[in-house]
Amino acid sequence: MCPVPWPDEYDQGLALRKAAFKKYAQAIPGAFAISKRGVAPCKAGCPAHISVQGYIALVAAGKYREALKLIKQENPLPSICGRVCHHPCESICTRGRLDEPVAIDPIKRFVADLDLNSETPYIPEIKEKKEEKVAVVGSGPAGLSCAYYLAIEGYQTTIFEKLPIPGGMLSVGIPEYRLPRETLNAEIRIIQEMGVDLRTGIEVGKTITIDQLRQEGYQAIFLGIGAQECKMLDIEGEDLDGVFSGIDFLKEVNLGNPVKPGDRVAVIGGGNVAFDAVRTARRLGAKEAFIIYRRSLEEMPANEEEIEECEEEGIELRTLTNPTRIIGENGRVKAIECLKMELGEPDESGRRRPVPIDGSEFHIEVDWVIPAIGQESEWSCLGPECACTLSDWGTMNVDPFTLQTDDPDIFSGGDSVTGPATVIEAIEAGKQAAISMDRFIRGVDLREGRDKHWEESQDIPTEGYDTIPRAQMPRVRPEKRLDNFREVQLGLDEAQTVAEAKRCVACGICSECYECVGVCDAEAVTLETHSEQPETINLEVGALILAPGFQAFDPSKYKTYGYSNHPNIITSMEFERLLSASGPTMGHLVRPSDEREPKKIAWVQCVGSRDIHKCDHSYCSSVCCMAAIKEAVVAKEHAGDDLDCAIFFIDMRTHGKDFERYYDVAREQKGVRFIRSRVPTVETLEDGDLLIPYVNDKGEIVRETFDLVVLSVGLETSPETIELAKNLEIDLTSSQFSKTDSFHPVATSREGIYVCGTFQGPKDIPQSVIEASSAAAEAGALLSNARHTLTREEVVPEERNIRGERPRVGVFVCECGINISGVVDVPAVRDFAASLPYVEYV
Ligand code: FAD
Repeated sequence: MCPVPWPDEYDQGLALRKAAFKKYAQAIPGAFAISKRGVAPCKAGCPAHISVQGYIALVAAGKYREALKLIKQENPLPSICGRVCHHPCESICTRGRLDEPVAIDPIKRFVADLDLNSETPYIPEIKEKKEEKVAVVGSGPAGLSCAYYLAIEGYQTTIFEKLPIPGGMLSVGIPEYRLPRETLNAEIRIIQEMGVDLRTGIEVGKTITIDQLRQEGYQAIFLGIGAQECKMLDIEGEDLDGVFSGIDFLKEVNLGNPVKPGDRVAVIGGGNVAFDAVRTARRLGAKEAFIIYRRSLEEMPANEEEIEECEEEGIELRTLTNPTRIIGENGRVKAIECLKMELGEPDESGRRRPVPIDGSEFHIEVDWVIPAIGQESEWSCLGPECACTLSDWGTMNVDPFTLQTDDPDIFSGGDSVTGPATVIEAIEAGKQAAISMDRFIRGVDLREGRDKHWEESQDIPTEGYDTIPRAQMPRVRPEKRLDNFREVQLGLDEAQTVAEAKRCVACGICSECYECVGVCDAEAVTLETHSEQPETINLEVGALILAPGFQAFDPSKYKTYGYSNHPNIITSMEFERLLSASGPTMGHLVRPSDEREPKKIAWVQCVGSRDIHKCDHSYCSSVCCMAAIKEAVVAKEHAGDDLDCAIFFIDMRTHGKDFERYYDVAREQKGVRFIRSRVPTVETLEDGDLLIPYVNDKGEIVRETFDLVVLSVGLETSPETIELAKNLEIDLTSSQFSKTDSFHPVATSREGIYVCGTFQGPKDIPQSVIEASSAAAEAGALLSNARHTLTREEVVPEERNIRGERPRVGVFVCECGINISGVVDVPAVRDFAASLPYVEYV
């Protein structure tokens, strides 16, 4: 009986099917030719990486709600992030090595928008309500995220926001054409519906002090006040009329206050704020708005899309240009003086340092200047009651791991700690702070168990995949954008989203979708057991028997067999699962592409065996001939005698007791066709059928069509077992099996270490069992002197005479499986038994 349920998404297309097999392979180590890897970590530092492959796999399977739930475990603002995140996850996406990275953010956006637009948007489960109150200062992404996770823990959570509207830079920084307000408000509303009390217009430090918050019973406080103050250029003329900081300009516009920029607007800077400011100025009627940036285009921190959209809107990017003075006339801006720059050696940020070119001064006529070169935090919220300290850069000093400040009950995160950064970093900070605050209130160690280590995916194979272009985000045409703030990026539709999700190559193997946790009624797989890590245990032993088995050869290497590209070309292992009652189709023989019952099946023998061209396996895998015959016979038993089964072979190796007779029966009585021919290629036809051209025994070329092709894959030693052998210092053969000799078939090259099964060489079950007995006998002989020396006495309760005592009866009825509970109503038996005299325990 299979130990794990077959993933539901089996039939959802090729990429997913392969992923499903891979997941299955992980559950039964050695069953399939998959090297075991960890989950891909996010080298780019995206905190929400853990669930990415999980929700991508769920979207590919059409499980949008499940995907959304998974996303929301890591990210309370997915619709927002799906629009504005700088998606560091995409920069390390393995698909990017094949063609282009999977469009992760647009996929997330689709799922999250779908949920927000549904009648009952998802609200996470809230744990039992707690008495304790917690305060969150600031309603930017850090504060919202912190409140979200504290609310899930059941705390009475209040957000204090000084502005009249919530959202921080999401609402007063990022313009509507990138982040529509209904999307922002809808995600904030969910957090309010979770019970978070969101109070706007309250400035901590002014309207209420931290001391007062403490007195009102707030047991932990999160400061997520962002970096709201704009840094100035520190050049002459910054006090002239017509100079506005980028942050203030955007805030005024976003708060709905009337702002009318001049005709010629120079925006200074190369980051998000600069780009948002220049595009906003353009939309508000500036005839000419342009960017001035002292480095080159390559060093610009703004993302590629933003630069592209800006250029589409006719906005000029004046790079390698440094403003040195703002020139005024009658107190108003008239022009800006700049120097031309060239790139020198890299500076501490790794970017090439801009160096002024002597004598290159020039003037640009402008009537507005918007500096957007950086931000800092404003800390008037901290009163004398606070012990927390600031860094030299004006950011809050925190423990980088727990985000606790020098005041034990005050935590901080987001831009107020990192300086101006990103939405996703602020979200993660909010989450980590919430975890710390919960532990702080409960008096639990703030650090324990939090340094989760994700193993890096290694040697991810990228061969065998077709190039599939990445879905392009549809955008409003430039000429239709410039007089309004309607959203520019329109989002992918369902078909595009699913197709895009299917581009994922599932490089992490376990995608961490946690669906197994949900379906495991026995609670064998829980979030805790799922995240268990390998442990090192030292055991003292006198002999070692190695039975690590084999891995099946991965046929993706044979490009001409098309295994990676066609759902109806499967391995013999996968075919076994198709025939199995516990398999994906419960033993109903259908082909993966369209679930049609196949009429003709071909087996191609020696895939990954007796071949030194594709795989350096000169040996015969010995079991594939009998396995193919058995599969063909069983397939006929399942589908009826009309099923045409053809086995293409080099020579049939049916050695073993009565195996030849089985071969004869298959050929003569069951009608299995045996064709001696080496198949060169499997060609795909339009309707999912497959064409095999081959030379028959008369030397004629035959072209035959099949519904399904099974590749009889050979056996090989896995890289892990090769590593084990290296560590144990035992010799391997040139084919990477354990070296033994004919007179000592289970003794490895090292004394006391024995081997049995396929690690000694390809073989079937009976032979493996014989070897196992032999290895046990060898080990037993070696250990005979030590036998019983470690035996422990069983301690049994002392016997006593119970004559005359009241009988005490225990009743035990087994309910697992169907042997008993399929026939007997076990709960009824239990209840009846409990009612009988002297029954003490049921
Ligand atoms: P904020 O979002 O700044 O929120 C802080 C909140 O605290 C504010 O609402 C503020 O009013 C409130 N507050 C401050 N002091 C007090 C007080 N004393 N009492 C009560 N409330 C207080 N990042 C991306 O990832 N992608 C982008 O495309 C992107 N574009 C951006 C565009 C602009 C114009 C700007 C300015 C930033 C952009 N960012 C972007 C960066 C991102 O918005 C910030 O990194 C993020 O918002 C920081 O979140 P936060 O919660 O730490 O702070």
